[in-house]
Amino acid sequence: MRDSHGRNINYLRISVTDRCNLRCRYCMPEHGIISKSHEDILRFEEILKIVKIAETLGINKVRYTGGEPLVMKDIDKLIYETSKLPGIDDIAITTNGILLSDMASDLKKAGLKRVNISLDTLNAEKFKSITRIGNLENVLKSIEKCLTLGLKPVKINTVLMRGFNDTEFEDFLNLTRELPIEVRFIELMPIGEGIKIYEKSKLSFAEMLNQKPELIEIETPKSSTAQLYKLEGAKGKIGFISPLSCKFCADCNKIRLTSTGTIKPCLHSKEEINIKQYLNNEEMLTNVLKRSEERRVGKEC
Ligand code: SAM
Ligand code: SF4
Repeated sequence: MRDSHGRNINYLRISVTDRCNLRCRYCMPEHGIISKSHEDILRFEEILKIVKIAETLGINKVRYTGGEPLVMKDIDKLIYETSKLPGIDDIAITTNGILLSDMASDLKKAGLKRVNISLDTLNAEKFKSITRIGNLENVLKSIEKCLTLGLKPVKINTVLMRGFNDTEFEDFLNLTRELPIEVRFIELMPIGEGIKIYEKSKLSFAEMLNQKPELIEIETPKSSTAQLYKLEGAKGKIGFISPLSCKFCADCNKIRLTSTGTIKPCLHSKEEINIKQYLNNEEMLTNVLKRSEERRVGKEC
């Protein structure tokens, strides 16, 4: 698929559930979200059907996310069925890592290639505080396990927040000295629960980069959403992601599917296309998916 700005769309990011086993303060309300009914959420077979059609349209890269993808029943089977599609050569997940250490081996056997693990602090008390319920040990064990299994590359997603983890910036950078991981700092977005803390917690990356002139800018692959850096002699890399900035747009190769069956062609557009209604009509579903690339905005930077 090629969009009206000539960008090749080959990446489908699917939220398989809206449920989560954590309650990060910038993402979920304390008592969780009101869970959608089973009829509203895409079922296993429905997700697979959409992936199969997307594959015929040139999607070769699929990321399963959430909510928390690892709380979805049969996520391993979904990954396995996805990996059997000849056109799909890359399957990744974005996870909070709480359940991953016990599942990683089976997920790899099922066809998982890569993981992004979210981790905002290396301090156990602060971890409990930001996630409201999580145990840091589980996430650290998962990172270790994925490295042992050779799920490459292991990327760590860290939302940087003033007054919360900006003081750990250096500690996160130092993780990359010995570990072959990519630590990616993500700018807090004023969305969902993030709106409530945005003004007091937002941080500019220019400010963080000024503190660390020893960070060496390195070549960033076109497909990367991060601007990449390295510390001299380090095994890993460091990335900075500004989700709403222009860097994303020129090379954006992605469309998103929500757990309720809505396609979001572009982060810069409010436009959403409900494809759940077309699930029983393969021809319509194919056409609607094909046309979703026309709805991408393409920001002028
Ligand atoms: N539960 C999984 C996880 O935490 O990795 C996957 C879903 S989570 C919504 C995906 C990513 O979005 C996480 O890295 C999380 O930190 C990030 N995120 C959530 N709300 C955000 C916000 N308001 N601003 C920036 N990043 C946010
Ligand atoms: Fe759950 Fe991920 Fe949101 Fe945290 S960021 S509450 S782990 S969905």
